[in-house]
Amino acid sequence: MIGERVKRARAAAGLSMQALAEQIGVSANMVKKYEHDISMPSSPVLLKLAKALSVRTEYFFRTAKVSLGEVEYRKKSTTPKKVLKRIEADVVDQAERWFELSQLWPDFPIPDFKFSVKIPEINSLDDIEKVAELVRKKWQLGLNPLPDLIDLLESKGILVIVSQEEHSDKFDGLQARINDQPVIVISAHWPGCRQRFTLAHELGHLILHDILPSDIDEEMVCNRFASAFLLPAIGVMQNLGGQRKNIDPQELYLLKHEYGLSMQACLYRAADLSVITESKRKQLFMFFSKKGWRKQEPGKAYPQEETHLFKQLVYRALAEDIISESKAAELLQISVMELHKLRLMQLQAA
Ligand SMILES: [Zn+2]
Repeated sequence: MIGERVKRARAAAGLSMQALAEQIGVSANMVKKYEHDISMPSSPVLLKLAKALSVRTEYFFRTAKVSLGEVEYRKKSTTPKKVLKRIEADVVDQAERWFELSQLWPDFPIPDFKFSVKIPEINSLDDIEKVAELVRKKWQLGLNPLPDLIDLLESKGILVIVSQEEHSDKFDGLQARINDQPVIVISAHWPGCRQRFTLAHELGHLILHDILPSDIDEEMVCNRFASAFLLPAIGVMQNLGGQRKNIDPQELYLLKHEYGLSMQACLYRAADLSVITESKRKQLFMFFSKKGWRKQEPGKAYPQEETHLFKQLVYRALAEDIISESKAAELLQISVMELHKLRLMQLQAA
C-alpha cells in the first residue's frame, strides 16, 4: 500500500491534490483514493507520480516503516505550519533511508543513543559547566574545539537530519524521536555557528530533560550547555584570560573561528564565566546592535556542518556485499550510472 508515501511526497513537493492530479492526468478525487489506499495507480501513472513528486518509483515500495513521534519544537516557534509539514516529510523520508540501511545490515555499526553517566545535582546554571565537562570526558573529546559535530552525534546514535527544504531557514530546529531513536533536525541554509549551537542545544535536551528540577528554565539550561560544550571554560581562560576590563571584537572573531561558536555566544560565555562584567557584556551587545552585527556577524562565516556518515555506511555496506549497487544507488538517491562513476573515482562524492 503506497497511500502514505504518496501523501508524504506530495507534502514534501508542496503540491495540492488538484495540482498533482493535473500533472499526472487523473482527477483530484483519484489522487485522494491513492492516498487512502482505496485505489492503486497503474504502472504508467506510477511513473508519472514519481516524476511529478521528484522521487524514484522505488520510494513508493520501501519497506522500512518509520513513524515520527514526540516532536519537540523550540518554544516560541514562529515557523509557518506549512513549512513545518514539508520539513517533517523531508525528515521522515531521510530517516526512512537510514532505517532501511540499518535493517539491511546484520550488525549495524552504530550504537543506540544512551548517556548512562550519573549527572551531579543541578541547582543553578553554573552547575551546567560540570555536565558539559562530563559529556566531553565520557566521549573522550578532550578540551579542544569540536570540528565535526554532526559526525560526532551520529556516531553516538543520534540521527542528525539536515533539511534542504528551501524555507527551513525559517524554523528553529527540532528534536523528535523516530522509531524510538533521537533525531535532531537542522537547516542546510543556516550558517555553521547556528547549526552547531542548535545541535549542541538539542543534545542538552536529550541528556538533561529528565533530570532537571522544575524551577529551572530548560531552554536557558540547554543554551548554557551548548556554549559550554562547544567552548569549554578552559578555552575561554586560555584565549581571553581570567579577568578583563574590555574585549576587542577581533578576539571574539578569532575565538569564533577556533571553536565554531558565534561571536555573540562567545561574549555571553565571557560574562557567564565572569571574565567580563554583565554591564560590560550589555555595553558590547549594544555596540554589536549599532553595527548591525547581531543580525549578521562581521567577516567570514564559520563553515557549515556536513554529514558524511550515511554515505560512508552505504559505501561500506556495498564493499562488504551487504547491499547491491542498485540498493546503494536508491539509498543515495542517485542513478546506478552515477554510482559507477563515483566508485571509479570519476566523480567526487558531493
Ligand atoms: Zn530547546
